[in-house]
Amino acid sequence: MKTAKLAKSYRIDNGKHFRINDFDPADTGHWHSVENAREALQDGIARMADLQAKLYAQDCWSLLLIFQAMDAAGKDGTIKHVMSGVNPEGVQVYSFKTPSDTELQHDFLWRTTQHLPERGHIGIFNRSYYEEVLVVRVHPKVLESEKLPPSLLTKNIWEERFEDIRSFERHMARNGTVIRKFFLHLSKKEQKTRFLARLDEPEKNWKFSEADIHEREYWDDYQKAFEDMIRNTATKHAPWYIIPADNKWFTHLAVSAAIVETLEELGLSYPKVDGAKRKEILAARKLLTKK
Ligand code: ATP
Ligand code: MG
Repeated sequence: MKTAKLAKSYRIDNGKHFRINDFDPADTGHWHSVENAREALQDGIARMADLQAKLYAQDCWSLLLIFQAMDAAGKDGTIKHVMSGVNPEGVQVYSFKTPSDTELQHDFLWRTTQHLPERGHIGIFNRSYYEEVLVVRVHPKVLESEKLPPSLLTKNIWEERFEDIRSFERHMARNGTVIRKFFLHLSKKEQKTRFLARLDEPEKNWKFSEADIHEREYWDDYQKAFEDMIRNTATKHAPWYIIPADNKWFTHLAVSAAIVETLEELGLSYPKVDGAKRKEILAARKLLTKK
């Protein structure tokens, strides 16, 4: 089964006309079931492993993958899937929670900037500076706690943050960090099913959080915030992928297809061996065969 065009249909590189309701969280492309997609899932992992090895060897580009979603959309499982075949040495995963006191002493891009991937590496952000236009927008109290000078807190704050994020991402792109952003698009109904499973199944109880249930009451506000965020920050060099999230296997398939597509576009290859290196290799062979 081909995944070549799969990721493209979910990619937004110009957000101007984006509407969240145009996308179906239960979409599974032309795949019908996990059995049906198994081969493509394994193929995606193998291709990612090969491409990551080249990215690492070349030590030139870096890849930043950002995951944003409502609770229970499957960020953790998706990251686990994406990581499953790659060399852990070349990947760094960071989860961003409520900012610490130290982090609140700085601007909103400070804490994530410190964890940007090195050249040759893949960085995965489980949540990111995008929380600054999501949870912070949905809950005005959170913005109040950010210690900004009152005169800077105007009605333009979200526009300003979008502009700053766009500039930041353009800067990163111009310096060799390829950014791809994933919104795992879950339906409200499927979130309820997953929350209930956390209550009913003992091995999922640890995942249950009362706060998540309360956050669900702000569902519509979050959907609006996600839509506006994507409208304002989807660009050619840092596109958003709107990934259907009601079926976990399809989420994994679509995300890995997007990563493979991205890395393939870079035309990666192992560094060429020059004359001096070739001489070293020949000399080493001689030494080894001498015994
Ligand atoms: P999981 O529940 O799967 O362990 P999670 O990402 O939901 O993972 P939690 O500790 O449950 O982790 O939640 C992290 C919380 O931190 C979220 O409610 C999120 O909105 C909040 N958060 C993240 N970044 C910021 C930020 N910049 N400002 C305020 N809150 C933030
Ligand atoms: Mg949580």
